[in-house]
Amino acid sequence: MDLSDEVMEHFMNLAVKESYDRPTGFYVGAVLVSDSGKIIGRGHRGFLGQTNMLMHAERMAIEDAYNKNTKGSTLFTTLEPCVQAKQNQVLSPCCSLIARCGISTVVYGLKDSKWGAAGEGVKELERRGISVIQYFGWNDFLESIMHISRDYDNYGLYD
Ligand SMILES: [Zn+2]
Repeated sequence: MDLSDEVMEHFMNLAVKESYDRPTGFYVGAVLVSDSGKIIGRGHRGFLGQTNMLMHAERMAIEDAYNKNTKGSTLFTTLEPCVQAKQNQVLSPCCSLIARCGISTVVYGLKDSKWGAAGEGVKELERRGISVIQYFGWNDFLESIMHISRDYDNYGLYD
C-alpha cells in the first residue's frame, strides 16, 4: 500500500487512539490495514477473554481480522512487536504471528528496548522478510506518543 507520511500519520493516530481502550497498564494500540487501505483489524493491549493472560495489541488486531485476508496487509502498532512471550507461555510472540498471517509491512512508533521485544523485534521481523518502518510523527501524534512514553517511564520500560 501507499505509505506516504500522511497515510502513516493517519493510521498511527488510529493505533494511538485504539491504545486508550487498554484496561490497565501500558498504552499499546494497533490497526491492521489491507493492501487496498481498508482497516481489517483493531487491537489494544488487553486480556484473553476473562483470564489475566496478556493479549498484545498486535494479536488482538490480527484476531479481529479473523475473517479477512491478511496477506500483504500492513500492521500499524504503537510499540515494536514482541519476540518473546515472557508472561504468556501459551500464545506465540507477535513477531511470529505477524509473519504467519502474511503481513508484509510493520509500521511502529516506540522502540521496545527492554520488554517483549528487547530490541530484537525489528531484527526478527526483517529476518522473516517483513518490511519494518519506525514512524516518527508530529503534532497530535507526537503528543500522543509522548503520553505513551511517559506511561512507559512510569513502568520502567526504559532504564
Ligand atoms: Zn506481542
